[in-house]
Amino acid sequence: MGYEATSIRAGHAKTVAAAPRGRLSQWLGGLLSNGQEVEEEAGVQPRFDRLEQRRARLYQEIGEFMFAHDLDLTPLNFGLAYDYVTGNDRAIEQAVRAIIMEKGKLTNSQAETILAEASQDEITPEAMNEMLDSVEANLGQLSDLVKMSQHEANHYGDQLQAQVRDLAIPGKAGPVMSQLIALTQSMIDKSRAVEAQMRESQKQTRLLKKNLDHARKVAEQDHLTGLPNRRAFEAILREAAARAQASGKALSVAFCDIDHFKQINDVHGHDVGDRILKFVGKLLADISNDTCHVARHGGEEFVMLFEGQSTKAACEIVDAARIDLSQRTLVNKTTGERLDRVTFSAGIANVAAYEDSREALRAADAAMYDAKADGRNRVYIATV
Ligand code: GH3
Ligand code: MG
Ligand code: MG
Repeated sequence: MGYEATSIRAGHAKTVAAAPRGRLSQWLGGLLSNGQEVEEEAGVQPRFDRLEQRRARLYQEIGEFMFAHDLDLTPLNFGLAYDYVTGNDRAIEQAVRAIIMEKGKLTNSQAETILAEASQDEITPEAMNEMLDSVEANLGQLSDLVKMSQHEANHYGDQLQAQVRDLAIPGKAGPVMSQLIALTQSMIDKSRAVEAQMRESQKQTRLLKKNLDHARKVAEQDHLTGLPNRRAFEAILREAAARAQASGKALSVAFCDIDHFKQINDVHGHDVGDRILKFVGKLLADISNDTCHVARHGGEEFVMLFEGQSTKAACEIVDAARIDLSQRTLVNKTTGERLDRVTFSAGIANVAAYEDSREALRAADAAMYDAKADGRNRVYIATV
């Protein structure tokens, strides 16, 4: 698939060949320029040469990692080395980094533990959502049941109480009647105790429901930036696409990726990297409103959705944010050290032009990748 990519800054359009996509290709892409601009007329061939260099370095780094830690040559260990070297899995990367910092070397059994823990965490968002739905449904049933039982217990208690009042007319009750009254009274007391228990259960159910709502919110929120996460965004995108289809209004999606972020982490550390992610997240969130949604797609990638905006209009908004960020002077609060310019590259796609909204997101990602390949710090529009 080829597509047209428009550079807002240069104000010209050109057609570029499709390049390999996805995380690995992005990792491969990172080495392309190493901060240097990739020349436009470089064409496809030199890009592939550099891709090969990048791949060769990836093989080498994975091999060196396996060798340095004497890891058995198993598929799982290769996977771990890949996740560590490319930063593909943040949990694995951090766990390996922590062991290396503490012990200097990673053993096979430590690698096994890290992988076992990582696979335990692999609860898919869909599975999580299903679990939440089923807990919520059970809780709803329980709540109705408790309410009903509480009502019945109350009613039963009140009726017994009325009976006792009628029976216990002074001087009228014989010994059998007195016994009956005493028995009824004890039933009343028990019924009241059940009522109190029911009230407590009702309270607990309400609390559980509140916790569940919180869990659902957490499941849809990125913990670092507080923005909606990828899963939440996919739902927003699906719903907005359906609305746009029904109304015929424009809908544009943008994929933004911070440039050379690995380098920022490597030079200044992960904490600074995290703070930059929060900063960029806030910068983008500040331009969001009822019709512009921002989410963290993962890693150093953010996605945006513009309801009622053409790709050109969306591109102008994203480009303004890009210029804004690129002109900021960021300082490491801990050391007072000035950071290098932080920039991002982005791709924009018209959702209506694709079969489904996911395809449109992929097209935006592909346009973003070309913005990277052409020198970064720019916004491209994808056309089908
Ligand atoms: P490019 O310009 O091509 O996008 O290069 P890049 O370095 O930004 O891209 P690459 O995919 O090579 O590296 C992304 C890095 O982002 C790797 C990973 O360690 C880091 N990363 C992912 N998630 C987080 C996070 O939550 N916090 C921090 N500090 N780093 C993260
Ligand atoms: Mg990325
Ligand atoms: Mg990046």
